[in-house]
Amino acid sequence: MRRRAILIAVPVAVVALIIGAISGSPDSNQAAVTKAKPTAAELQEIEAKQLAREDRGIDRLLDFTTFVAAGQGKKRQVALTFDDGPSVFTPEILRILKQTGTHGTFFVVGSMIPDQERMIQKIMREGNAIGNHTVDHPRMGELSAGDQLLQLNEQAALMDGAGGPVERLFRPPYRSFNGSTLELLAERDMLMVLWDVDTGDYEGLSSDEIARNAVDDAKPGSIILMHDGGGDRTNTVAALPEIIKGLKRRKLEPVTVPRLVLDDPPTDAAPLPEGLSGN
Ligand SMILES: [Zn+2]
Repeated sequence: MRRRAILIAVPVAVVALIIGAISGSPDSNQAAVTKAKPTAAELQEIEAKQLAREDRGIDRLLDFTTFVAAGQGKKRQVALTFDDGPSVFTPEILRILKQTGTHGTFFVVGSMIPDQERMIQKIMREGNAIGNHTVDHPRMGELSAGDQLLQLNEQAALMDGAGGPVERLFRPPYRSFNGSTLELLAERDMLMVLWDVDTGDYEGLSSDEIARNAVDDAKPGSIILMHDGGGDRTNTVAALPEIIKGLKRRKLEPVTVPRLVLDDPPTDAAPLPEGLSGN
């Protein structure tokens, strides 16, 4: 029985190898022909390892600073960030990101989560990063420390309830924060994420203007501010394909914020920008 199984198995293997060699695309190398594609489980493991590396990247940054507004700029990477969602505009943004093989970072408002649990899952599943943007978008710099803590904790609890990640990133609404904000974030091992490019997409600009602001102002390491919620984001959605195309034309690769701070971290603590204490 055993010998017969081998007799059958060998020709089958030879035929499989020949078919593999013939059907391989012209640019596939020998390794691609003989080595099987990674399974879903293997891909998941690769992804988990990358997420763990990115977590350690955030840890390293927190050793010497409380916030980041841009990468160092040694790599041609930029981060597209989307605040105030998820909303009805998020699915289209996700579709464009996926179609262009691009990832973004979504700073989620807690009050949006209960209706958008599946969207939270989809944002994660498609390789994007998620950060905390408070429960209901107050100016943190004008709140007591206790109320700021509630804003952080309640958003995190809602995120957890939706099956979302333990967030390591925080973006302050209106860029309003104070010393208490930074202390609370430090206690939670969270990094405050500001930006160095403001598309102004919340100011009623046309999609052309939004795209021009993003593409022309971006430089290596830039963190670009955009919105997928908090109002009519039709023009942001319309601008996004042009933004991604324009950045790629400039050889700037859009990545998530955790990936940016892993690959191209600032090496010194930048001076804290204006915004301290509630503007
Ligand atoms: Zn916001």
